[in-house]
Amino acid sequence: LPPFDPADPLGLDDLLEPEDLAVRDTVRGWAAERVLPHIAEWYEKGELPVIRELARELGAIGALGMSLEGYGCAGASAVQYGLACLELEAADSGIRSLVSVQGSLAMYAIWKYGSEEQKQRWLPSMAAGETIGCFGLTEPDHGSDPAALRTYAKRDGTDWVLNGRKMWITNGSVAGVAVVWAQTDEGMRGFAVPTGTPGFSAPEIRHKWSLRASVTSELVMDDVRLPADAVLPGVTGLKGPLSCLSHARYGIVWGAMGAARASFETALEYARTREQFGRPIGGFQLTQAKLADMAVELHKGILLAHHLGRRMDAGRLRAEQVSFGKLNNVREAIEICRTARTILGANGISLEYPVMRHATNLESVLTYEGTVEMHQLVLGKALTGLDAFR
Ligand code: FAD
Repeated sequence: LPPFDPADPLGLDDLLEPEDLAVRDTVRGWAAERVLPHIAEWYEKGELPVIRELARELGAIGALGMSLEGYGCAGASAVQYGLACLELEAADSGIRSLVSVQGSLAMYAIWKYGSEEQKQRWLPSMAAGETIGCFGLTEPDHGSDPAALRTYAKRDGTDWVLNGRKMWITNGSVAGVAVVWAQTDEGMRGFAVPTGTPGFSAPEIRHKWSLRASVTSELVMDDVRLPADAVLPGVTGLKGPLSCLSHARYGIVWGAMGAARASFETALEYARTREQFGRPIGGFQLTQAKLADMAVELHKGILLAHHLGRRMDAGRLRAEQVSFGKLNNVREAIEICRTARTILGANGISLEYPVMRHATNLESVLTYEGTVEMHQLVLGKALTGLDAFR
């Protein structure tokens, strides 16, 4: 029998092909070199000063729009994309958010619903990280219920004129293109908005205590005049943004386990070496119970993510199953991080260690891409056949 490996107690690496391991190693190596040495400082300052360099480097390793085909994208499997999300979030949820929004929201929307011209115009430079994208759905008064959003695109001759405000938009202030969802006379439509268009601005939201190494912005659209071909022709209605969100949520199912893994590994190492009452705290049964429970949830979560990835690769993944994964994995990941924090005692609250940073990041991850309650309601509806949303 192979020996017990504390880093992979269930032997889940057996599920991976050599190419999957290669993707994982590449992304892990990049994050170790480019993110981990700086992340505490970026977090403390509440900024990501090198975001454009990071985007280009992420493009160079194929991490942007990774599971999309063509237009300079890597065409990786869903499992490989998931592994990349896990490794990025093991560094910081803000870096994974940059990649999720770029690839699974902004690029995916254009790739899935854009015209050939829109794809040619935006996707290659987004895949290369030359152009950063954002995805504007949430508004100040409309979060969990995006069907009610108020941003409006009105026809004026062949042009569109866009008015409204978006809130909490990742990558907003650094984006070259914003995918904006707006009401029209024909129902909800998506628009690829060049952010240099007059009337468009994206002030950054400050004073966040979570996802501090991530750019989060308002989008202000004041009579933004767009040509007829700015609209994404392939979709009308809420299913447009929801299908993009489903793709991004899938990545979060994996990503959250990255934050959990980093916190678990930190706690395990600390428990082995920190001594109290004359012996390592990892030798106390109460600490071992915490570690055992954390390991169980961590690797169950990874197994669940892998299962969903295989279903996605087979074209069999339903949105309810993505909700299942997002609900479980983010909720368990935050618990793992909080438990890890207790094992580190006072050191647990310090930025010298990653656990508090991961725990506070996951407060955002718990809320964005559908809150815990929204995913409970999705599953509740699927289980009972009764819609409890309204
Ligand atoms: P609300 O919808 O007001 O919900 C508040 C609370 O009420 C929640 O607990 C919710 O679950 C609960 N609630 C609401 N309705 C019900 C109900 N029917 N039954 C029971 N409980 C209910 N959005 C984007 O479009 N693009 C982005 O790039 C983006 N990035 C983000 C980055 C960060 C750091 C954060 C924090 C958010 C981001 N968001 C983004 C917004 C995010 O998706 C929303 O915050 C989320 O959808 C929740 O909306 P809300 O904050 O308006 O909360």
